[in-house]
Order: sequence, then structure tokens, then C-alpha cells
Amino acid sequence: MITTSKKMRTMWRGGEWVAAINGGSFEVIDPATGECIANVPDGTAADAKAAIDAADDALESWAATAPEDRGDILRRASEQMTTTDKKTLGDTITDENGKPLAEALGEVDFAAGYFKWFAGQVDRDWERSISSVEEGRDYSVIRQPVGVVAAITPWNFPAAMITRKIAPALAAGCPVVLKPAEETPLTALEIGRVLEEVGLPPGVLNIVTTNVPAEIGRVFLNDHRVRKIGFTGSTEVGKVLLKGAAAQVKRVSLELGGNAPFIVFEDADLDEAVRAGVAIKYERVAGQSCICPNRFYIQEAVADSFIKKFVEHVGALKIGNGREPSVTVGPLINEAAFEKVDGLVQDAIEKGAIVKVGGKRRTDGDLAKGYFFDPTVLINVVDGRDGMRVCRDEVFGPVASIATFRTEEEVVRRANDTDYGLAAYVFTRDSTRSRRMIRALDSGYVEINGAKGYRHATPFGGFKESGLGREGGDQGIEDYTEVKSVIRNLG
Ligand code: ADP
Repeated sequence: MITTSKKMRTMWRGGEWVAAINGGSFEVIDPATGECIANVPDGTAADAKAAIDAADDALESWAATAPEDRGDILRRASEQMTTTDKKTLGDTITDENGKPLAEALGEVDFAAGYFKWFAGQVDRDWERSISSVEEGRDYSVIRQPVGVVAAITPWNFPAAMITRKIAPALAAGCPVVLKPAEETPLTALEIGRVLEEVGLPPGVLNIVTTNVPAEIGRVFLNDHRVRKIGFTGSTEVGKVLLKGAAAQVKRVSLELGGNAPFIVFEDADLDEAVRAGVAIKYERVAGQSCICPNRFYIQEAVADSFIKKFVEHVGALKIGNGREPSVTVGPLINEAAFEKVDGLVQDAIEKGAIVKVGGKRRTDGDLAKGYFFDPTVLINVVDGRDGMRVCRDEVFGPVASIATFRTEEEVVRRANDTDYGLAAYVFTRDSTRSRRMIRALDSGYVEINGAKGYRHATPFGGFKESGLGREGGDQGIEDYTEVKSVIRNLG
């Protein structure tokens, strides 16, 4: 059942729900069926500029709003998202992203948690004095909102990637222009509606839906009133934004791609490692998450046994339309995603990888209408910079590539031999070894003996080409402020 109507939606600007200035629109597609589920405004440069105008108009009063009042609005939004609006939001995510409904509802809770977390961060010590060493001079440091923020978000977590950016920005006193991914604009509009209903003043959040993201991105980069761009997406687009931001030395936060290693030592709890690996690789947006393991490294002595258990689990996964309660693996987001994943698997096969399970598109029954790629396990893969693309590139699909290793030193070297550095997973019962691994891995996030993922309280972001800045944690809000040192000369 498709719960979102096919009606024409509007976007939110300056407190009004509006069409695109030129009247254009584009279709939102359900990736499980290939059907159009709604039309949304196709915003252009003129809409982006109008949204920045609205945000700029709201800047002074929002920055001057008492922090606790800003926090109250965020708290109410969190409450509404997890109670009365939870089902609507979950359905909307499943409709446009395809992830199973239970997973979508989990995302709604996680997304709402960012409003709650950052509501609790508004009361930070934004003004502090520094002990003066000179007679007649007082020193202090204040933090101020950075100004108008542009947020650009991806489709894989249509709610959480939005709240992880707009919650700290709003908490810090910054108005936001949000440009959601063209694949998942409906969830963004629902979040806008929630914020309107809990009393966010006009212009403090503005949403530009569009099918021409580069055009909107250029407006964000070239308008001096946008002081910061928060982006989650591909490393390729992140680099475009980073280069473009140089012209006005705009602040940027970039949360980019990953190529996470999943390392299992021979002393690990193998059953737990298998369960955790399958859950995070396949049952999290069908492998389309930047913290998904991309490369599995299993120590030689336990490799056969790990692969056997892993393949059994993967073979039993239920793939299908996310609205069916028993399904835990949904579709890929679109045809381009399907072609990319298929291309990586074919390349690996041509270079000698062996498919233990899966390996192709599902064309049976209703699955033929959507973008379903069978949960896949490859062995005999070759990693490293000269290795197979499936190990070098971010796969973003339900494909696990399994390699073996002999020593700890060797696996650290291979795990770090990538330009990415977002997440890493290590399974071992040896606590001294896990301490060494935590320090040795070039990664913004390391999880030991599990793969449940980060929380609101933990700063999240990447090493190397996986990004700049951190979202969440206590650093999250700081990245939306400027530091000002003040010296008062006393008369
Ligand atoms: P993915 O390949 O996962 O879709 P992208 O980096 O292409 O990742 O997309 C992430 C977000 O960046 C989306 O909101 C998309 O519309 C936006 N985007 C894509 N290209 C540009 C661009 N040139 N400038 C600004 N935003 C862009």
C-alpha cells in the first residue's frame, strides 16, 4: 500500500508552502515498484535565492531567541516525531527510499533523537571569561551562530541525515536552507511540517526540493549570506563543494564516503561476528550506508568456518518490498545504483572473485519492477589500491567481499590502504589487541565486537577523504558557531 498520495506537493519557504517559482515539478519514485508516488516542486536558482532571502530575514531574531526557547521547539519536534507522526514519517521513508518499514521506524526514532540531543546542548557555556593577567583588561570568549546555513542531504537516511544537520544549526541560532536529495524529498517536507506545527518561526527553516542539485549548490556557494554548508553525500560532490567554498572561505562540514573494513580475528566470537556483519551489511538500507563494511578480513584459521556460517545467514535473508513485515532487505535506490553495484560485481568476477551466494538482479515476480539486487557474498577478492574495484570503491549495495589475512600487522596495513576513513569494525576477545587496533586504524569511528552503529552522543565524521568536521556529540553544535575573543579595556 502506498500511503503518500500522488498529489503535487509544495516546498517550505519563509513560513509559506509554495510551488517552484517557474512552476516546474518532478516525480518521486518508489524504488520497490518503479511507480511515481508524488510530484514535488523542481526548485531552480531563483527558488534557492528566495530561500536564502527568507533565511537571512530570520537570522537576527532567531539568533537572538533565548537558547532554551530554541531547545523547547526542538524537544517538541522530537516528541511529535516519536509519537503522533511516527507512522507517517516511517511510511514516507519506506515509500521513497524502499527500506523496510521496521527499519524506517527505527530511523524516525534515531532522527528525532538528534532534535532531543541538540535541545540538550543549547545551554552550553557560550560565554566565558578568561582570567586576566593584565590590570585594567578583561578577556572573554563568546560563541555566536555562524549565520545562514545551507544543508545538503542524501537519500539513504532521508530523516536522520537532515536532523543531524538542522538540529545543531537551529540549536546554535542559525537559520537553514535545506536541499534534500531528489530521490527522497517527501521525508524532508514532512519534517518541515512537524517543525511548523511545533512553532518554528517563519524562515528559520526553508526547504528547496529540486532535481537540479548542482544549480542549487552553485547558488549556495556564490551567495555571501550563506556562511556554512553542511553536506552528506559522495566524496566526489564533497570535493566540488570544498573547492567551490574556497572562493568565499565558507565553512564546510563534509560527511563523505567510506570503505569500512570488518576484521575478524581467530579468537573472536564467530557467531556474533557473523550476526553483526550480516545485519550491518545487508539489513541497513540494503548496504547503502556509508558505515557499511565494504571489505571483510577474516583471519586464516577461522576463514572457512566464518564464510560457511555467513553464507548460510545471507542465503536466508528475505528481500522484497519493505512494506511486507518479514522483509529485511529492500531495493537499491534507483537504476543507476543497480548498474554501479552490478558493474563492481562483474568486474570482480572477471578478475577471479567467486560468488558464494547472490550476484545478480532479482527478476522474479513483483521484484522485477523494482531495483532489487540479491544479497551477495564474494570470496577470493583482491584488495588494495591495485585490487578489484569492489574493494577499492564504496559499493553501496548488498555485496560483501571477503578476504583472508595472517597477522595483525598485515591486516592493519591492508585496512588502512584506502583513501577513505569513516568506520571500522574489529572482532577479538583479546582486549590488549583491541586497544592496539583502535589506535592503529585510520578511521573516525571504530566499533569493537559489534556493529550497531554510532549514537547521538558520539561525534561522527571521517579521516582522510571521508570528510571534514564532526556531527553529533558535543562537537556537533560547535561546528555551527564562530568563536569571538573579546578584550575589554577598563577605564
Ligand atoms: P549519491 O551518489 O549517494 O546520491 P551525491 O553526492 O550525488 O550522493 O548526493 C548527495 C546530495 O548531494 C544530494 O542531495 C544531491 O542532490 C546533492 N548533490 C549532487 N550533486 C551536487 C552538486 N554538484 N552540488 C550540490 N549538491 C549536489
